Amino acid sequence: MPEIRLEHVTKRWGRFYGVDDLTLTIKDNAFVTLLGPSGCGKTTTLRMIAGLETPTSGRITIGDTVVFDSEKGINMPANKRKVGFLFQNYALWPNMTVYQNIAFGLSNIKEEMDTYSDEAREAARLVAALSSPANALAAIEDSRGKDGKVDEKKALVHLTESLLMPMSSAKKLYRILTSSKDYSGDIATLKATIDSARSKAEAAGGSLDDQYRIVKGGQVVRSVRKLTKDEIDLSVRRVSKLVKIGMFMDRYPAELSGGQQQRVAIARTLAPEPAVLFMDEPLSNLDAKLRLEMRYELQRLHVETGSTFVYVTHDQMEAMTLATDICLMSNAVLQQYAAPLDVYNRPANLFAADFVGNPSINFVEANGQQSGDGTVQLTLFDGMKATFRPASPLSLDEWRRQRDADAKAAEDALRAKSQMKGYVEKSNKDEVFHYHIQRTEEIDESLEGAKTIGDDDFVLGVRPELIEIDENGALEGEIYGAMPTGMESTIKVRIGDFLLTGVIFGNSHFRIGTRIRMSISSDRIMLFDRSSGRLVTLGSLEF
Ligand code: ATP
Repeated sequence: MPEIRLEHVTKRWGRFYGVDDLTLTIKDNAFVTLLGPSGCGKTTTLRMIAGLETPTSGRITIGDTVVFDSEKGINMPANKRKVGFLFQNYALWPNMTVYQNIAFGLSNIKEEMDTYSDEAREAARLVAALSSPANALAAIEDSRGKDGKVDEKKALVHLTESLLMPMSSAKKLYRILTSSKDYSGDIATLKATIDSARSKAEAAGGSLDDQYRIVKGGQVVRSVRKLTKDEIDLSVRRVSKLVKIGMFMDRYPAELSGGQQQRVAIARTLAPEPAVLFMDEPLSNLDAKLRLEMRYELQRLHVETGSTFVYVTHDQMEAMTLATDICLMSNAVLQQYAAPLDVYNRPANLFAADFVGNPSINFVEANGQQSGDGTVQLTLFDGMKATFRPASPLSLDEWRRQRDADAKAAEDALRAKSQMKGYVEKSNKDEVFHYHIQRTEEIDESLEGAKTIGDDDFVLGVRPELIEIDENGALEGEIYGAMPTGMESTIKVRIGDFLLTGVIFGNSHFRIGTRIRMSISSDRIMLFDRSSGRLVTLGSLEF
């Protein structure tokens, strides 16, 4: 399965940048979710990799093949990129059965493939099934109805699925197994068929290999051809087993539930065995329960197919639960590319911290300096003092030097780019994320006057589950609101004019107006630099 590489990929329309200088490697067999707010460039990124949108500049490689290179003028069409798509509006053909819907795309494939002796292949399949018939007999036994009789249709589907064979072979096998208990005669006839196919191949100057492919001059003979009826059938059976719709093959889409239709759409996409599968919000038309169910299905499919999945969503829960890696974007720019829990626990910046997590992270503005012992002495809320203790050694001076060097390098790169031919200034300017501070009364921050933000200004990030109710805790507040769900309660606590959100596990009752004490004993509190919005480090807080 291939790795996908994007190098400095940009897409702009006029001065508006949809995707800005994206460099990203999607590892083989990854499940990457492209996540971010509406309009951040997720779909555009997916479409560019798939070949449905032409980048303005950059280079895209799938496996060893360069599929797009603006400098070399390479732009491979979508249908040559060997990728599958699954979109929100998956539109099955209403006048075709489930089977026909899945088979349709396969019957249109015409490309260079290995050639086989079809009769030998089928005979060998049947010999294998009859030589150790336990599986096949069990599949038939599993198809008995309440009346004790074997349901033939069910038995055939079970045979195709448990022995992975096309329906035509399953029918022959079923006939043999149900007509006698001694299959030796059938096995002998089938073996004779294989021998005769071998002789035929030899007479034509070739041979058959162990997979019954035709070999000539030591090479498997390849030819441009369509898939045979059995090959199509086998693919349809294989994917319908994966998504568990084997029993619905003769139904029309209108006779299926939304979830079943979705499964058919997935099967249709998987049938040509794409090495890479692109999905753009494929679950957004489903209700919440089905969505959750389908998430499990997709997770399982990802493991079972071994394909690389690239999945667009604006739902951070979906991204967190499905992905091996999240590619988080904002305003056309990559913000963080990391495993879901890394984005959650170690967000690169204020935007990432805010976008991932439900309920949202608490941001608390703080001001202070680092002491000789490495701790940072902070003032927060309305004058409260606290000590931030970094979880690993930190020199703020060094950190700031690196920050400034990075900013200068970015500026230099932009200046160099702006002098290049064809450069177009970005109209959707990049800005440091405007984080939100929760207060009892919302204030219009634009009326606050321009404060100069200096090196002593920080923002603390505290995940709601880190707040604990603790009668000996150093923080005191008042319950402002509580939402119990049974398993946990999301509470809002007022400290002066500020509000903090907490998630308290368990079945407790919180009365509005009650005074409580809290502690935050974690060493996963985030310290952000306010001017750049970047994460400085994680640590603990002492009041
Ligand atoms: P959503 O979650 O709403 O689907 P998205 O992150 O997938 O959003 P894209 O569809 O990638 O966003 O679009 C990125 C930006 O590019 C948007 O602001 C969009 O308006 C703009 N855009 C997309 N296609 C075009 C086009 N053909 N011409 C001009 N602007 C476009």
